[in-house]
Amino acid sequence: MATQRIAHRTVIIGGGTAGITVAARLRRAGIDDVALIDPSTEHYYQPLWTLVGGGCAPANKSVRSQSSLIPRGVAWLKDSAVEVDPTNHVVHTAAGARVTYDRLVVCPGIQLNWNKIPGMADALTTPYVSSNYTYELAPKTWDLIRKMRSGTAVFTMPAGPIKCAGAPQKIAYLAADYWRGEGVLGQIRIVLVLPTPGMFGVKVFSDELEKVAARYGIEVRKSSEVVEIDAEARRAVIQNNIENTKDAVDYDLMHVVPPQSAPDWIKAGPLADPANPAGYIEIDKHTMRHVRFPEIFALGDAGSSPNSKTGAAIRKQAPVVVANLRAGLEGRDPVERYEGYASCPLTTSRHKMLLAEFDYTMEPTPSIPLINTTRERRDMWYLKRYGLPFLYWNLMLTGRA
Ligand SMILES: Cc1cc2nc3c(=O)[nH]c(=O)nc-3n(C[C@H](O)[C@H](O)[C@H](O)COP(=O)(O)OP(=O)(O)OC[C@H]3O[C@@H](n4cnc5c(N)ncnc54)[C@H](O)[C@@H]3O)c2cc1C
Repeated sequence: MATQRIAHRTVIIGGGTAGITVAARLRRAGIDDVALIDPSTEHYYQPLWTLVGGGCAPANKSVRSQSSLIPRGVAWLKDSAVEVDPTNHVVHTAAGARVTYDRLVVCPGIQLNWNKIPGMADALTTPYVSSNYTYELAPKTWDLIRKMRSGTAVFTMPAGPIKCAGAPQKIAYLAADYWRGEGVLGQIRIVLVLPTPGMFGVKVFSDELEKVAARYGIEVRKSSEVVEIDAEARRAVIQNNIENTKDAVDYDLMHVVPPQSAPDWIKAGPLADPANPAGYIEIDKHTMRHVRFPEIFALGDAGSSPNSKTGAAIRKQAPVVVANLRAGLEGRDPVERYEGYASCPLTTSRHKMLLAEFDYTMEPTPSIPLINTTRERRDMWYLKRYGLPFLYWNLMLTGRA
């Protein structure tokens, strides 16, 4: 079969949060001849999956058809990128097409490595273990939480960068608050396994989360990871990385989060940062431009910039990518800078939330004037449940926020 040859001035790989936002902004900036490569017919608003797993939102509110979101004037190539040849400016696809570009934006998201923890993939097929990290499984999380009346519930977080580092603990608080309301919290031992020495990377939020965990009587295992799961025995092996010890906890419910990395084809290709074993795309953390290939930009979960991997970060990265890409097309230097802003809406109960906003300095960078968002607040809950989804679908993905 002859190779299909396709040429576009600007090509985007991945039509998730980052890809659609950049495509919409490029069109608004008057850039034409843009193509977007993505095989998925669905687009997910993943932040809602925490609330789906906590029984606070239906799963179908987190999904829309990709075709309804591709900006007008952008060519959608329903295919997967499998290789980038940056020397010849070519993207090779799974269907065998050869797509050439002048400028390339790479944002295929992060890879969930379920098989990296022995037993994790197996355990997910049993009626005791779930994960909010997929659309299909998030409703199962709520099913398990809803039915539990006594026993041990384990919530895990892996080491290394993951998308939304707050999500592994948010679901523990939503579950604990539900069990408190049902009057069964006293009968449930909750174990939260965190790889980090603190609850969160920014002290003021970490201190607040310590109080939240204590309020629910959660046993927090810091500097620890689940390293093995025996699905049949319902046993999780927890390793303490400081003391170098292991112990086993028998569970009746477990919420797991897998280790994450760049997609394998990125990791094995020329765009990856050779110094980073997780293989993220090697970009300048301020300009978002590739360090070795100036026609290439990356943003979102697949990029190497050391921000917290969130949609909120992408909201600030996308305008920088578009401005710097445009500068390149016009023969100017990239001068726009991303300073590492990210935010994490930490749901601490079924009615309250703490909005953690920070940047590369790891200091709080509150963006809402007059109110103290470093404390749990009820109004922030409504922002998470209704305000942020509205902002996402209507303003961010249309290139207006
Ligand atoms: C449970 C959970 C809770 C979260 N909570 C929050 C939160 O509260 N706040 C927040 O800001 N963020 C949150 N996030 C993180 C946020 O959803 C991600 O950071 C964001 O979606 C990343 O965007 P992205 O475009 O990089 O990747 P994605 O949105 O994952 O999109 C990647 C796209 O690339 C496509 N793709 C993959 N491989 C290829 C390929 N080879 N070729 C072409 N296309 C490809 C996929 O089909 C997909 O459309 C949460 C995530 C999860 C899972």
